[in-house]
Amino acid sequence: MYNPKSMKAEEFISHQEVLDTLAWAEENRDNTALIDSVLEKARLRKGLTHREAMLLLDCSIPEKNQEIFDLARQIKLDFYGNRIVMFAPLYLSNYCINGCVYCPYHKKNTNIPRKKLTQDEIIREVTALQDMGHKRLALEAGEHPEMNPIEYILESIKTIYGIKHKNGDIRRVNVNIAATTVDEYRMLKEAGIGTYILFQETYHKESYEKLHPTGPKHDYAWHTEAMDRAMEGGIDDVGLGVLFGLERYRYEFAALLMHGEHLEAVQGVGPHTISVPRIRRADDIDPDVFDNGIDDDTFAKIVACTRIAVPYTGIIVSTRESQACREKVLSLGVSQISGGSRTSVGGYYEPEPENQDSSQFEVSDNRTLDEVVNWLMKLGYIPSFCTACYREGRTGDRFMSLCKSGQIQNCCHPNALITLKEYLEDYAAPDTKTKGDALIGTEINNIPKEKIRLLVSDYLKNIGQGARDFRL
Ligand code: SF4
Ligand code: SF4
Repeated sequence: MYNPKSMKAEEFISHQEVLDTLAWAEENRDNTALIDSVLEKARLRKGLTHREAMLLLDCSIPEKNQEIFDLARQIKLDFYGNRIVMFAPLYLSNYCINGCVYCPYHKKNTNIPRKKLTQDEIIREVTALQDMGHKRLALEAGEHPEMNPIEYILESIKTIYGIKHKNGDIRRVNVNIAATTVDEYRMLKEAGIGTYILFQETYHKESYEKLHPTGPKHDYAWHTEAMDRAMEGGIDDVGLGVLFGLERYRYEFAALLMHGEHLEAVQGVGPHTISVPRIRRADDIDPDVFDNGIDDDTFAKIVACTRIAVPYTGIIVSTRESQACREKVLSLGVSQISGGSRTSVGGYYEPEPENQDSSQFEVSDNRTLDEVVNWLMKLGYIPSFCTACYREGRTGDRFMSLCKSGQIQNCCHPNALITLKEYLEDYAAPDTKTKGDALIGTEINNIPKEKIRLLVSDYLKNIGQGARDFRL
C-alpha cells in the first residue's frame, strides 16, 4: 500500500501507485483544463506532486509543452540565476563485488584492469585536479568490503582535504559509495563530506533485481532505504538519481519524485540534488541491449519537468552528455555540471594507456575544464566554484528554507563571482581570463544590495592581490 511516510521501500515507492500515476497521466495527456490547473500551481514555484509532474511530462499538446519549457526556464532563472556550479568525479577504486549488468566494474568482467588508488596516488590525482581549478569533488568507488572498506574511504577523504597545493584546495568532497549502515554514514558525516549521493539505478523492483543479480546491491530494500539511514547517521544532504535507459523513463520519473516526497515527509528535507545520467557505452556493456534509451528531446523534457516539480533541488548533468545536449538542458534547469572529467581510476595526473583503460563509461564531452568554463561564459552563464553553504553550516533544512524563500540567491551569485575570480587568477587561459574579468565587471552591478556589492568588490580586489577563500 502506498504510504510516503512509511520507512519500507515498497510502501514509499509503491509499484501500484506508480502504475496508477502513469495510467492517470496518460489518460489526461491532452486534457487542457487539467494541464492548465497544474501549470497554474507550478507557477507558484512551490513544486508539484509526482502525479502532477507526470501529467506535464506526458502532456501531448504542443502549446502547453511550450509553456512547460518556458516555465522551467523561468524557474531556473528565479532560483539559480545564471550561475552553474562546477565539479569533477574522482574514482578511487573499481574493485567491486556486485554484478550490475550495465556497469563494466561488475565482478565478472575480467577485461577491465582493476585499480585502487594509494594515498600517494590520491595526492597526485587531487593535485592535478587542483591545478585544473577544481574545488568540489564527487568520490566514486565500487563496493568491496576488503579492497574498499569504509576506513579506506575515510582515509582518502582526510588525505584530500589535507592537500594544499599552490593556491588550490578541495573544499567540498561529495561521496558516491554503496549503500551502507547508519554507523558508517555517521563516520562519513564526521569526516566532513558534503552530499551523500546514491543512484537508485531503477526503482522498478523486478527489473532492479534482474539488473543486480548478485552481490549486496541485489537487495532492493537495503539500497532504496539507504538515504533514510544516511540521514539517521546525520548526513544532511543527499543526492538521488536514476540511470535512464535501464527501465521505462516514465516509471523512473514518477518513482524518483516519490522518493523525494518520502524524504520530505519523514526527514523534513527533500533531496539536495537529483542526477540525470543516461546509460553510455562501456567495456563489456552494450547500451543497445537496454531498449529503454531516451532521445535528447525526452531527456530535455525530463529535466524541465524535474525543475518545475522540485524547484529547490539542484540538477546535475555529467560529461556523459555531449556539449550540444548539455547546452540544451542548462537553460531548462541544470544547476551543476562536471568538467574535464576522467571516469577511470587514475587518469588526471597521467592519461591511461589505451590497453589499460579502467573507465566506468565513455565521456561524450571531452573538453578541458578551461574550455568548459570559457564556453559557459560565452553562453552567458557564470561558472561557479562555490562551496560556501556546507562550510558555513547551511545544510539540510536550513539550506532548504533559504532556498524556498529565494534568499539563497543573495549568497550564490556573489560567491560565484568570488570563486570565478579565483579561478581566473590561478588557472585560466588568457582568453578565458579576459572574458571572465569582463563578465565579473558586468555581473557585480547585478548585486542588488549596496553593502554586499561593496564587500564583494573588496574581496575581488584582495583576490587580485593574492588573497583567497572569501565567501558569503
Ligand atoms: S554500478 Fe557500482 S556497484 Fe554496480 S558494478 Fe558498478 S561500481 Fe559496482
Ligand atoms: S552559496 Fe550555497 S547553494 Fe549557492 S552555489 Fe554556493 S554552495 Fe551552492
